Amino acid sequence: MKKPIQSFTRAELAEIIKPAFRAKQIYRWVYHKYIENFEEMKNLPFDLKKELAEKYTLNPLKIIKIEQSRDGSKKYLFELHDGHTVEAVLLLMKKEQYHENGTLKHQAKYTVCISCQVGCKVGCAFCLTAKSGFLRDLNAGEIVEQIRLIKKDNDIDANRRLNIVYMGMGEPLDNLQAVAQSSRIFSDPDGMSISPNRQTISTSGLSTKIAKLGAMELGVNLAISLHAVDDELREQLMPINKAYNIQSIIDAVKAFPINERKRVMFEYLVIKDVNDDLGAAKKLLALLDGIKAKVNLIYFNPYGGTDFKRPDEKDMIAFQDYLTKRGLHCTIRESKGLDISAACGQLRDNELNS
Ligand code: SAH
Ligand code: SF4
Repeated sequence: MKKPIQSFTRAELAEIIKPAFRAKQIYRWVYHKYIENFEEMKNLPFDLKKELAEKYTLNPLKIIKIEQSRDGSKKYLFELHDGHTVEAVLLLMKKEQYHENGTLKHQAKYTVCISCQVGCKVGCAFCLTAKSGFLRDLNAGEIVEQIRLIKKDNDIDANRRLNIVYMGMGEPLDNLQAVAQSSRIFSDPDGMSISPNRQTISTSGLSTKIAKLGAMELGVNLAISLHAVDDELREQLMPINKAYNIQSIIDAVKAFPINERKRVMFEYLVIKDVNDDLGAAKKLLALLDGIKAKVNLIYFNPYGGTDFKRPDEKDMIAFQDYLTKRGLHCTIRESKGLDISAACGQLRDNELNS
């Protein structure tokens, strides 16, 4: 299949398409006008449009299903050129508000959760994406296109602020080059202009790759899917912990270049009677000592075929209280879109089994 034009940074396009100012024009058409085919690039010469159409594609993904949640979130299922499918979710973090006279008080706040692989190699016991195994990496264009299509589908202006989290299907650090490339493309001021400090890469903790990501100096935020505070339990939940244990992750985080005003997010998926006790909270506090960290507690979201259970709200709150009272930032992730197939992997799973 042809390479998506969305796989190129503007600088790379300027290398291959002469004169170089064409790259900026192409970026405008693709990321500001959301065009669907090269013919629409009106200020480009006919021959160039023809050449581009011969060499590249503008449509690496197709939206095949959308689920709308009552809370305003939307889940997208995309089909790739080879028939595989991946998901992304548009999360409405704050609805738009108006003054009494009808003028806009503040705009809606969006976060988009995107996928970077079809399936995942890491094989976490609680994760639905892991169940279908690993099929392939996404290329940078396929990652970028998820955001472009969602913006287009929701009439979100090109220059609107938006947060991106690499928390959909797949392990970003197992597809580091394409993920890093997509991050650079997102942040281009002539493209979508999404600053790296609005982008968060979430990892199951491939320690050596955390160092590599740090060395790339992209300026992105880091989130660690920790989920357990001792190696024995973490190995059961996340087999990758045998190769990269908790201490190796902590060491990698300490060496990671973090924006002064930011904290590393530690995600802690709470599973009833598995890791929801205050003993774990106590160990977590000790583990994160000396790190500019924040903790995000996530309710385990059950699906058919799993024995794991959603934790009780009172245990979540007790866990949170324990940490915040001792000075550690801790939030509980709102379960957005619970009425749709909320946990990543669920929409795709429903489709595969229908
Ligand atoms: N592979 C990366 C990023 C994608 S997973 C990582 O693991 O960090 C994104 C998040 O979804 C992880 O924090 C994971 O714990 C969470 N998740 C997976 N299955 C879940 C479930 N059933 N309920 C709630 N969250 C889940
Ligand atoms: Fe992969 Fe993340 Fe799911 Fe683990 S939680 S299997 S790393 S996608």
